[in-house]
This record gives sequence, structure tokens and C-alpha cells, in this order.
Amino acid sequence: MDTVAHTTPVDGGLTWRNGFAALSPAFHTRLQPRPLPAPYWVGRSLPVARELGLSDAWMASDDALQRLTGNRLFAGGDALASVYSGHQFGHWAGQLGDGRAILLGETTAGLEVQLKGAGLTPYSRGGDGRAVLRSSIREFLCSEAMHGLGIPTTRALAVTGSDAPVRREEVETAAVVTRVAPSFVRFGHFEHFLHSGQHAELKTLADYVIDRYYPECRDSTAFNANPYANLLCAVSERTARLLAQWQAVGFCHGVMNTDNMSILGLTIDYGPFQFLDAFDPGHVCNHSDSGGRYAYNKQPNIAYWNLFCLGQALLPLVGEQDLAMAALESYKTVYPEAFERLMGAKLGLTEPREGDRALIESTCKLLAQHRVDYTLFWRHLSQHVAGGPVDPVRDLFIDRAACDAWLLQYSEHTREVSLRPSADLMLKTNPKFVLRNHLGELAIRRAKLKDFSEVDTLLGLLHSPFDEHPGFDAYAALPPDWAAGIEISCSS
Ligand code: AMP
Ligand code: MG
Repeated sequence: MDTVAHTTPVDGGLTWRNGFAALSPAFHTRLQPRPLPAPYWVGRSLPVARELGLSDAWMASDDALQRLTGNRLFAGGDALASVYSGHQFGHWAGQLGDGRAILLGETTAGLEVQLKGAGLTPYSRGGDGRAVLRSSIREFLCSEAMHGLGIPTTRALAVTGSDAPVRREEVETAAVVTRVAPSFVRFGHFEHFLHSGQHAELKTLADYVIDRYYPECRDSTAFNANPYANLLCAVSERTARLLAQWQAVGFCHGVMNTDNMSILGLTIDYGPFQFLDAFDPGHVCNHSDSGGRYAYNKQPNIAYWNLFCLGQALLPLVGEQDLAMAALESYKTVYPEAFERLMGAKLGLTEPREGDRALIESTCKLLAQHRVDYTLFWRHLSQHVAGGPVDPVRDLFIDRAACDAWLLQYSEHTREVSLRPSADLMLKTNPKFVLRNHLGELAIRRAKLKDFSEVDTLLGLLHSPFDEHPGFDAYAALPPDWAAGIEISCSS
């Protein structure tokens, strides 16, 4: 019985505008999600619900559960799957598309609502259109964790589960994640229209993206006032800033294919991602990535490679190769600037000064050499600068002398009173809590037993990862030994 039916409008009261759906059928196929039997709640993010204008009461209702599983449609939405293509692991993969994601519509507030794992689409390519519980929990938690860290990302409103079997390496159960973002357009959408020779549609898509999300590109006089070159430049800059944030927080995406790159510079498509434990620049988090293409330290270059693919896709609109190349150039200045600023903030440096870069480099080198836990190092250092003891920092090193030498270099760099590191800045920049693999794994193990309390606990911590959360220190501790054995692949 839906107890809130009398006080809450049916379907949460969402109102819709459906901008992407208004594009021609070349862009998408209208369809409906396929129902799942006896759904149950796995997780809900009430801050996302509030952003959509959904009440907490509706989010507790059976109506919400059914609609966010795809068992009931939102009146006024315009459900569809979109077509895109892309480069996967460096090779042209041809047509891909939303194989298991169904866009329910776009609200009048300009937020698209999408169900991932809601059933077959014309782009499922032999897949089953479903997502399993474990990967859905990971996507749900990490989307919200990234937002908590201040990193641009698609959001996650909810995860629902069903006992319906889903076959992967073994038989698992189905789940649906409701994702929310202003747009789910990827680099691969543009590549699709270039490679299929649909240049009129390519222009339609670029114009749509500019008008809706980058209107300043129309008016800019840069790049010979070419709006498409300006778009390429703007996307390059956003992507550069995103990558700087990933690197600074120690986030590995794991599958940076061009179909997993957001045109809005959002983190999108959480698969085999990982937050680094011990700092290993060459770390490869995706068990399927045998060549290490998407290793942590390769991500910034891969993003540029992907932007180059986007540049090629936009070339018929930009017109001149030189102009496209010039538009991409911004990445090469914005990325290092943003990275240096973020790493400076991690060190508590409020003003740039000579020698910053050298200090940042020697810090990264030290952490790599001694395989120091990345998150704990920065958090303990912040606490130390805030007046706490130095021991927690030193205890992260087997070789204490190496740590002491670095601490000396750090204190010399920040010796002058006006250059003292800001503990406040550090505590707001260096999170206490990140979604380490083993934390996700523990929540998943419990969820498989229908205990979703860990999902909820993690969500609460990760929504405000810079807060201390007394009593939850175990969630900020070093990973247990078994964490090193967790293998996360593309299977999801
Ligand atoms: P991903 O590696 O998750 O970004 O997925 C790459 C492509 O495969 C996208 O087109 C997905 O929609 C599609 N895909 C992944 N898993 C499935 C599935 N279980 N059923 C249908 N399509 C899928
Ligand atoms: Mg994808």
C-alpha cells in the first residue's frame, strides 16, 4: 500500500521538457524499460532527489520504487536509448549506443534522468541489457562520492534490486541505477555521426550541445569566431580540469574509452574504477586492461587522445585542421596549471611560489618510492599541519628517515610566516574518506544478503568526505591485506 499517495503527486510531481528526445530519430530509438519482478531498495540519495524536486516522502513510496526500476513510466517523460560509437582501448569499435541505459526524459529544470540496467535496447549488441547488483552499488556510491569530493560527475538518485537472475561469470542478480545529469552526451555521439557520414546530424548535435550547454561558444570571437572550435576548446578545458581532479585525488577511471567521455566534462560510466590505496603511478585498476592503457599515470594523456578523436569528429564543422588543433591546445596548458594548483592546495599552499612544482614532484616521487597510502598521507599531513602529532605521517613509511627528509624539505619551503601552509585548506582538500575497493566490496557482500545498511553508511560518509565523522575511523583506515586481491574487470 502506497502510504504517501494522498500527499505526494503521482510520479513525484516531476515535469518534463525532453530536449534530447526532440532531436530526430537519427539520434535515438524510443522504447520502454523492461520490468523487473519484486524490486527492492538498495540505496537512495536524498540530496539528488531534492535537486530534482522529489520529496523524501515520495522517495519512500512504492511508486518511486516501481518507477525507478522501470516498472512504471513517468507521464510526460519520453523514454529512449541513444546511439553513439567510439574508440575502445585505442581501436575504432564502430556503433555502440545505450545498450542498457534508458533515458526516461529531461525535467523542466534541465536534468536528464536515466535508468542503467533497465533492459534490452536496439544497441544491446548481444548483451542482456541488465546490470548486476555489485557494479550498480559501485556506480551509485562512487557517483555520490565524486560529488562529495567536488569532482564533476553524473549523479545517482537510487539503486533498486531484484532477484531476477543475470548471467555473468556466474549467476548474479539484477539492479537498476537511476543516473542524473544535465546531459549524457559523450564524445562517441559525435564520432558516430562523423564515421557514419551523417554530417547534417553531426551539425545538429553540435548545435544542440552548444545552445543548451555552451551558449558562450556562439558569441566568442576566439578561433575566428568559429563556434565548433570554441566548443572543442571549452570541452578540452573542462576535461583538463576534470583530469587534474582525478589525478589529485588518486582516482583511476579504468575504461577511458571515447564512449565513456562526457561532453560536459563529467565523470561518467563507473566500471572498474579505483581510488588508489598505496601510491603506485603505474597502477592499472581494470583487470581486463592487460596492456595497461588506462593506468593511473596515463590518464591525462589518454584524455588528450580522446579529445583528439572528438576534434576529428568535429572537423567537418570546424573546417580547418589547424583551427581544431589550436582549440585542443588549451588542454596542454589548463591541465598542468589545474594539477599544480590542486596539488599545491593538498600541500596547503595558498599562493603560488617558486619551487612549488619541484616540491610537488618530489612528494609524488617519495610516495611512489615508498608505496605510501595516498589518501592517508595527505589526511595525516593535514592533521599534522593543523597542530596534530607528526607520528601518523611518519608511521606510513617503513623508511622513517625518507619521510623526515621530505618533512624537512616541506618545512623549508613553507618556513616564512606568510608562506605557512593552511591547515584549513588542506583539511578541505584532502578527504578523510574515499570509496576504497574493499569498502565497496564489504557493502556489496552485505547487500547480497539483503542487508543494505553498509551502502547507506558509506553514502553518508562519502557525501561529506572532508568531515571527521567521529566513530567511523575504521572506514578511513589502511585497506586490509585481502583488498590487494580484489579484481575488478569490465564485467558488470
Ligand atoms: P561500458 O564498457 O560499460 O562503457 O559499455 C560499452 C558498451 O557496451 C555500451 O554500449 C554499453 O551500453 C554496452 N553494454 C555493456 N554491458 C551491457 C549489457 N549487459 N547489455 C547490453 N549492453 C551492454
Ligand atoms: Mg560506457
